[in-house]
Amino acid sequence: MTQETGGFAAFNLNPNILAAVIATGYEEPSAIQHQSIPIIMAGHDMIGQAQTGTGKTAAFALPILHRIDPAKREPQALILAPTRELALQVATAFETYAKQMPGVTVVAVYGGAPMGPQLKAIRNGAQIVVATPGRLCDHLRRDEKVLSTVNHLVLDEADEMLKLGFMDDLEVIFKALPPTRQTVLFSATLPQSIRAIAERHLRDPQHVKIQTKTQTVTAIEQAHLLVHADQKTSAVLSLLEVEDFDALIMFVRTKQATLDLASALEAKGYKAAALNGDIAQNQRERVIESLKDGRLDIVVATDVAARGLDVPRITHVFNVDMPYDPESYVHRIGRTGRAGREGRALLLVTPRERRMLQVIERVTGQKVAEVRLPDAQAVLDARIKKLTNSLSPLVADAESTHGDLLDRLTADIGCTPRALAAALLRKATNAQALTLAAIEKERPLVPNNAPRGDRPERTGDRPDRGDRERRAPVPLAEGRARCRTALGARDGIAAKNLLGAILNEGGLAREAIGRIQVRDSFSLVELPEDGLERLLTKLKDTRVAGKQLKLRRYRED
Ligand code: AMP
Repeated sequence: MTQETGGFAAFNLNPNILAAVIATGYEEPSAIQHQSIPIIMAGHDMIGQAQTGTGKTAAFALPILHRIDPAKREPQALILAPTRELALQVATAFETYAKQMPGVTVVAVYGGAPMGPQLKAIRNGAQIVVATPGRLCDHLRRDEKVLSTVNHLVLDEADEMLKLGFMDDLEVIFKALPPTRQTVLFSATLPQSIRAIAERHLRDPQHVKIQTKTQTVTAIEQAHLLVHADQKTSAVLSLLEVEDFDALIMFVRTKQATLDLASALEAKGYKAAALNGDIAQNQRERVIESLKDGRLDIVVATDVAARGLDVPRITHVFNVDMPYDPESYVHRIGRTGRAGREGRALLLVTPRERRMLQVIERVTGQKVAEVRLPDAQAVLDARIKKLTNSLSPLVADAESTHGDLLDRLTADIGCTPRALAAALLRKATNAQALTLAAIEKERPLVPNNAPRGDRPERTGDRPDRGDRERRAPVPLAEGRARCRTALGARDGIAAKNLLGAILNEGGLAREAIGRIQVRDSFSLVELPEDGLERLLTKLKDTRVAGKQLKLRRYRED
């Protein structure tokens, strides 16, 4: 166990929960977790003021799991969430933290899916029920006793539930629960309507609020980019093309993310390394020294690992994962703009984290402007500028040293100096895309694809029954085919595992493999159309994370 996990160990959570938290890669509790976990573990009612991105889900999920009795096969905890999307997210979080608790099951109850299997899962003894209020009320109409054993209730994003018109449903649900239950309410804001609920339905609640004091940030130019979580790596790679940086630090939340991102950067030729709480002190010092003297240009770190890091060369900070609170944001971006120099800080924001961005803007008293991903033209301009910069110092005396050789080669080959220079350029640039068309082809992201929000439109429709947001399909590059495997994140698969397996066993070059998308229950990989059947046969018996890969061509119609 690393020193940092001591932070979670101090809560005295059930050892199986602690083990799962450590396996997830969390290094230390966030501020809201520090404050809420002991209160909920002790059985108190609580009002927590926190938004998405603060780690609030674990702040209630860990102590609730601690308090349930896995031996009892009946609903013991009910989590209410405003949307199907959030309900699924919370249910997945519970499953992750309960991974090492045999016998604990979680059921997600939401509209748009058949009711029968949901009710069956509840009756079969799921201890944790995560539900949207509308659908839960439908269940209550069929079986009013279904919640009678629940002794922990969590209202997640209570203000959103009220905004979406769930007030009446909430009252029905309160009535169906034992009055002796523990109630925990999380809300980003505490308007009068929420206070009134707390007044009526919570008993002597303790209040938890992350204190935010105004912070000043000077000499640092800040910007944010809206992006889906699974597009962060490609967004980072696009941004790096056009940002003129000297040294750069990227912040992510988990140890695994430091490793994944650092290896993605290395694969693209950047001098990058990971810094996390598992890395021994002497190795950590070597990484920092290397960043100082230019042997490294990018460090991908967790907050814990970056403590005390002071490297004047750092011109840029990328917040790839959202910090837990504004103080930590200010602290992170303070790594740049040292010694009176100018610095630049970029924050990646997923649709659900927009509110956290507003909090950061409020606390720092500064607007964090929105930027878009660079388009193909900007990438081309940046690549040509870099090439110009690297070649122009060489031109000065090259003619005197290599001019005669050039004359001889053009004569021997029988080509013009322009043809030979072009051939040398192709070699020197390593077949890098240097035309608009070629860049457009290699880009995995549609430029300027700010994602739409993931909340339902407030049209008065039942919010948890609408269609799930569909993402714009990612266009497939010419000559590539999309393949699918049934292995996904829930099988412990990351993109690099798939990449490694296909590279090793398929004998392909890295460039031959396109975008890899890992979803929860499946993954998609772009492979060359040419020779695909042969490749799939070759990979027939390949195993990843102990499971058969079984890659098949995927057709999206
Ligand atoms: P939430 O605010 O609950 O939506 O959590 C935001 C993200 O932070 C989720 O992806 C969590 O997995 C992650 N997270 C929560 N707590 C921690 C922690 N202590 N260390 C690292 N990541 C965390």
